[in-house]
Amino acid sequence: MKLTKLVSSAAVLIIAGGLMWFSLSQTDEAPDTPDSAAPWRCRSCDNAFELTAAATEREQNRSQHPFSIYCPRCDKLQAYRVIGCPNCGTLFFRESIDGSSGNCPVCTPQAPRDRDDLNELDLESSTQTVSII
Ligand SMILES: [Zn+2]
Ligand SMILES: [Zn+2]
Repeated sequence: MKLTKLVSSAAVLIIAGGLMWFSLSQTDEAPDTPDSAAPWRCRSCDNAFELTAAATEREQNRSQHPFSIYCPRCDKLQAYRVIGCPNCGTLFFRESIDGSSGNCPVCTPQAPRDRDDLNELDLESSTQTVSII
């Protein structure tokens, strides 16, 4: 019973690996043009840089990580794709990257973790209001 499961999951892995290899060998058509370039930023040394779609694909194949790639400056697996704020042009990390709110830190200065403090303040002011009445 267990052996059958093992064998079948191994077969699935082999098939999936074969499909992956097949699709990888098929996708050397990612554009290497400047307008395909996207901003990236390193969480370790704060290095900001741009990669074309083709370069991104190469780097992601090298890092074997769904989100991060190796930083060209410090060579750590800490470089993530960033979003450019449409208002002020600040580069910031996506919501999925831990420690980021997913909002522009310049246009949205309030960090989510400040909400607890705000709630406490609200409670205090409401109790004050009650005591005044
Ligand atoms: Zn770096
Ligand atoms: Zn902004």
